[in-house]
Amino acid sequence: MSEGTTPSTTKPARVRYAPSPTGDPHVGNIRTAVWAWLHARHTSGQFLVRIEDTDQSRKQPGSEERILASLEWLGLDWDEGPDIGGPFGPYVQSQRLPLYHAAVERLLADGNAYPCFCTPEELDALRERQRAEKRPPGYEGKCRVIPREEAAARAASEPHVVRFAVPDEGTTVAVDLLRGPIEVENSTLDDFVILKSDGYPTYHLAHVVDDHEMEITHVTRGDEWIPSMPRHALLFDALGYERPIFVHTSIILAPGGGKLSKRHGAKSMLEYAEDGYLPDAVLNFLCITGWGYGDETVMSREQLIDVFEIENIGLNPATFDMEKLAWLNGVYIRQTPIAELAELIARRLEVDLPPEVPRPLDRALVEEVTPLIQERIQTLAEVKDLVDFFWAPEVPVPAAEEFLQKKWKDRAEAASFALARSADVTDALDPFEAAPLEEQLRALADELEVKAGDLFTLIRLAVTGRRVSPPLFETMEIVGQGVCVDRLRAASAYLAG
Ligand code: GLU
Repeated sequence: MSEGTTPSTTKPARVRYAPSPTGDPHVGNIRTAVWAWLHARHTSGQFLVRIEDTDQSRKQPGSEERILASLEWLGLDWDEGPDIGGPFGPYVQSQRLPLYHAAVERLLADGNAYPCFCTPEELDALRERQRAEKRPPGYEGKCRVIPREEAAARAASEPHVVRFAVPDEGTTVAVDLLRGPIEVENSTLDDFVILKSDGYPTYHLAHVVDDHEMEITHVTRGDEWIPSMPRHALLFDALGYERPIFVHTSIILAPGGGKLSKRHGAKSMLEYAEDGYLPDAVLNFLCITGWGYGDETVMSREQLIDVFEIENIGLNPATFDMEKLAWLNGVYIRQTPIAELAELIARRLEVDLPPEVPRPLDRALVEEVTPLIQERIQTLAEVKDLVDFFWAPEVPVPAAEEFLQKKWKDRAEAASFALARSADVTDALDPFEAAPLEEQLRALADELEVKAGDLFTLIRLAVTGRRVSPPLFETMEIVGQGVCVDRLRAASAYLAG
């Protein structure tokens, strides 16, 4: 019985994120990367990115680029990776085939592996028989008994795979950092494939070779790999490699349990970017989904690096709480310094505003508008609908029904008069500033014997074209005296018929 060796968890760690380029990484997958990155940064170690593309048939064009873009967006910087290289490169498995072939040769030479010539049809038939006889599935070692010379001679010309020869007897104990030792009888493990007939290694072999060659200390990955861990442990041992520390992370569930669907937030990172989330908020949120530090919720990147302990990752599946994410995002938006937030808003508006608005947007105007909405938004996606009128070449007068509601129902003439008087008051103000403007318009409401709120609704509709806007008087100050007066008069004339 062997447990392998377990390096300490406090030394500078070398941790990798090893996605397969088969699509866009989803939140659970990225959360594992977040934790891996935090562990590397917490221990002043290194974070690596390795692309696992040994299953060439599942490769998706553009996936690698989007994976790297996702990490970049989240601010998970990597010290070694496919684009920047590093001392143990290349960092793409399909470019490392000779390394895997050398490992296979060693395993063959040591009698820890053998070529298997069984055809897919034979393997199907075996599976059928096992099902019929209610026996567990798995390769039963037909080719294991072929004498070594004969096997080598056949392998030179016949299609084959290479299988790992699992010891017949004994037990293998593999340790997961969070779960402790997991023990299996070797007799329950079949001789799994390590090299496919196309010459590509399987995941099992490739990642073991790479994790060794790249001096990885912690293998962090989803818990779907737990059943394979003993096989990997056997491979590490047979190749004479020191075993890394295995850390298997639990899945993220939908609220109320069950699989996380798109509706519950199972989106790719780049979709979160599009939906107007801030990277720091998403990083914070993902980190505390399944890991915690007392009752802390809002934790900066620096604080997370400081206090993150990989050993404290929770074993129970965490629930994905979209509302918490939106709330956190609002918190981060409010914490962002105005100039920085204004730049984010400007870039967002340059995407969202209609094409006739000239780009680049005037940053000074965005900086004036930003404080008016900072407290009111949870995501950047909400910005456009709140403020687009600032950039509209013209704000059309809303339909009469919009004005003539509640207090103004059937009172077009009175509404028209109130708007005309508002235009006069607005026109007369000098200097044109929010506070005195509010004072004057409140006085006008008294004079007209209407509630201030009812008058302001008319003014808001005339000036911004909508019922909901940033605070009215600050908005008017930014829109400018002349434009406000024009819009108020236009609305008044319109209602007068
Ligand atoms: N390529 C594997 C996956 O994407 C990586 C698992 C691992 O991190 O070892 O599931």
